[in-house]
Amino acid sequence: MSALLEVKNLKTYFYNKKKELPIIDGIDFEVNKGETVALVGESGSGKSMTALSIMRLLPSPGGKIVEGQILFDGQDLVQLSEEQMFKVRGNEISMIFQEPMTSLNPVLTIGEQLTEVLRYHKKMGKKAARERAVELLKLVGFGRAERILDDYPHRLSGGMRQRVMIAMAMSCNPKLLIADEPTTALDVTIQAQILELMQKVSEKFDSSIILITHDLGVVAELAERVIVMYAGQIQEEASVNELFNNPLHPYTAGLLAAVPSIEGGAKRLYSIPGNVPSPENYPAGCRFAPRCAQATEACFQTLPELKEIEPGHKVRCHLYQEGEQQ
Ligand code: SF4
Ligand code: MG
Repeated sequence: MSALLEVKNLKTYFYNKKKELPIIDGIDFEVNKGETVALVGESGSGKSMTALSIMRLLPSPGGKIVEGQILFDGQDLVQLSEEQMFKVRGNEISMIFQEPMTSLNPVLTIGEQLTEVLRYHKKMGKKAARERAVELLKLVGFGRAERILDDYPHRLSGGMRQRVMIAMAMSCNPKLLIADEPTTALDVTIQAQILELMQKVSEKFDSSIILITHDLGVVAELAERVIVMYAGQIQEEASVNELFNNPLHPYTAGLLAAVPSIEGGAKRLYSIPGNVPSPENYPAGCRFAPRCAQATEACFQTLPELKEIEPGHKVRCHLYQEGEQQ
């Protein structure tokens, strides 16, 4: 498989009252063509900021990419002008968010919003854009798509709005779809439908997906590979099977233990004690050390490196620094 996206040593900092906050602190990963990669971790671990860095939609002023490359189809997005980036966004890379109401315009109809994207990026005429919009709405499961076109977003349910967002995100056949907590705001039954739909459309369009979530159930459903983030760094990376069956990093193990077990009936909800450290004062050694039951003296002093333990399985933890499990 070849890489569609290569993120290399990406550092995104925030500047707040002369403080420098390393929100993303040197991450490297790839997304292959047609692949679904999940970014997981608690909130505040840097997942959403990774997405906003790729989209070049960091809050401004304040957020800035200070180092690294984001190679998309061989071209470094970090170096593109705002104007060039405008052509990439929504066209080659599109994004869906947790709450579609924040990205849909409340005063425009669904049809106006869908056709606007097509007219801008694909230079379609009014009629052709409208026909394409109907096709897209049918694709995401609207039986009476023509009627939805003239509706305003507030008339639709949360699940319907998220389906509209998927139609809009896929309208220009993007190579990469970034979905940030796409189902978090929805009912459990609707969540499953939306995940299925994302899978279906990404397969149809042969798009890659970066799925951002704190929900490992969602990961198991949709992703092929998982990247675990914590305190602005990648802590572990593996295929979904490998990560669920053989989690190496104590943080990953903690996240997995926090998934409610459906089979057991008992929904014990374990949560890892302590909090994600603030980027203002990351611990000197391993950033997970203050919360880790297996931490030793060395963990508090030296930052472990991200090492490939087995082909495709990387981990940042002193327990595995010799290239072998101890
Ligand atoms: Fe825990 Fe040490 Fe591994 Fe960090 S390096 S996760 S503190 S065992
Ligand atoms: Mg987030």
